[in-house]
Amino acid sequence: MTGPEPRPWIKQLDVYVGGKSHAEGAETTVKLSSNESALGASPKAITAYLEEAEKLHRYPDASYHDLRAALAEKYTIEAGQIICGIGSDEILKLACRAYIAPGDEVIFPKHSFMMYPIAAASFGGVPIEVDDTDYTANVDNILAAVTDRTRIIFLANPNNPTGTYISAKEVERLWKNIPDNILLILDSAYADFVEKDDYQAGIELVQKSRNVLMTRTFSKLYGLAALRLGWGYACPDVASILDRIRDPFNVPAPAQVAGIAALADTNFENKARAHNSKWLGILRGELIAMGLEPIPSVTNFILIKFPDKTGKTAENANEYLLKQGFILRWLPGQKLQHCLRLTIGTETQNRAVIQRLKEFMEH
Ligand SMILES: *Cc1c(COP(=O)(O)O)cnc(C)c1O
Repeated sequence: MTGPEPRPWIKQLDVYVGGKSHAEGAETTVKLSSNESALGASPKAITAYLEEAEKLHRYPDASYHDLRAALAEKYTIEAGQIICGIGSDEILKLACRAYIAPGDEVIFPKHSFMMYPIAAASFGGVPIEVDDTDYTANVDNILAAVTDRTRIIFLANPNNPTGTYISAKEVERLWKNIPDNILLILDSAYADFVEKDDYQAGIELVQKSRNVLMTRTFSKLYGLAALRLGWGYACPDVASILDRIRDPFNVPAPAQVAGIAALADTNFENKARAHNSKWLGILRGELIAMGLEPIPSVTNFILIKFPDKTGKTAENANEYLLKQGFILRWLPGQKLQHCLRLTIGTETQNRAVIQRLKEFMEH
């Protein structure tokens, strides 16, 4: 007897490795490894969540009508084309489940979000990783990889873990040059942080396409990571397919009400964006001053390149920081063994991590 035999592609899956939350031996822990909100969550969202506690015995609204309406109003989009999920991760998975058969190809740039190959492979899809340029997605390389078997293209824009983005024009060029039986998934998890005139999260493209899905999350700028709330916006056909295969009560009621409250709290949103923008600049300057190489970022994190010198490598820095209770993200699994990813924290955390990094570079 050998026990139940999983499907061959399931057997080969890697387990998703999240950011560490404990630094062994250190007294206090500063967690800057998962791109969580520096300012916590909107107080209004917390209040809405707590009030919902009175109704825990009730099933949530299966069509999350109010949340859809709030999103539709905020972004001036069609409520019927919005799909909400247990984090945007669920929506990425739903798309793979709907459009991928074993052997189909799924393209994404090198140094992309770890979930893409996992989601694709869960349904027997073949992950096709294409080279990027200077840690930025390269549209020509993506186009060159398209074949008859391509079903989905994933593009995180801005990208995690690199922090870079490509312009709306480049995204449009990509879309225009692929056949419309390929689903283009624009993962815009960090769109809320971007302050660039040539950037678009994907709403305009969804509105004129038959094959684009944009995904967004409440986990980053809105600070609701614990609630697992994400949403997608797609052309009507794709939206209706995803809606049909999701679980009926996939979004818990406390997440729905907290999400609605967060969308309305523009004060918190503006504060979070201003904090991020300020510290992106300061941290970048400090990192350059100490001889490190921050990759230009439009997100709430910075990918930092370390020297290829014994004692000063990213791995050495990671060990040094962990001993002092600072958790950054070292990503050797994503071919970034020479980098650490630093999430922007509170002022105190940012100043402290800069201090430790300076000591590391000078010792
Ligand atoms: C954080 C992140 C997400 C997912 O967030 P959820 O918490 O599942 O909504 C999706 N894509 C990228 C690139 C991310 O970094």
